[in-house]
Amino acid sequence: MINNNLQNMVTNILQNTFGVGPKINLTFAESTTIVSSRGEPVPAQTQSSYDAINKTLNITTYIRLDQFNPAASQEYKASILIHEIVHAYIFTNPSVLNGLTQHAYLLQNYVGGIVGALQSFFPSLSTQEAASLALGGLGRDLLGSPAFNDALTKYGFTTDVGSRSSYQFFSSQFEYGTIGTQCSN
Ligand SMILES: [Zn+2]
Repeated sequence: MINNNLQNMVTNILQNTFGVGPKINLTFAESTTIVSSRGEPVPAQTQSSYDAINKTLNITTYIRLDQFNPAASQEYKASILIHEIVHAYIFTNPSVLNGLTQHAYLLQNYVGGIVGALQSFFPSLSTQEAASLALGGLGRDLLGSPAFNDALTKYGFTTDVGSRSSYQFFSSQFEYGTIGTQCSN
């Protein structure tokens, strides 16, 4: 899951798609300790630091395997990685935030792109399934905000937990592997 090809691919995406200027050293690493700002364990987290001497932006995406259900689907894992790639992009261009948090910026600008990327990797995904995956990682921070409510409305979701219309209805099933594509190893 974590290898040099993936690193090269992501670095190319950042440099070619987003026209990132500085040299980027992007690393994927496993961690057993990453937590959210609230201290809760998280499945993935992207951190960055700028090395002014070598003019290199060091970006590290940590993956915490004990926070993935062993049966988690490929769709869920892909949605986590794509989400982290957007964080990596923002670290290369922090001025784009213009006062927003990273997640608020992602919600405003990249949910449609994440939905499209997921559907290109997994053509059988419905737009609502892909949107559930794209929004799943944002609810903890943004639930209740007007922008999040707008996104829910746009994709036909509600905040009615447990109902079929909940934005988490599909993402939680992909997370636990009751729907989606199983990893072959
Ligand atoms: Zn995030």
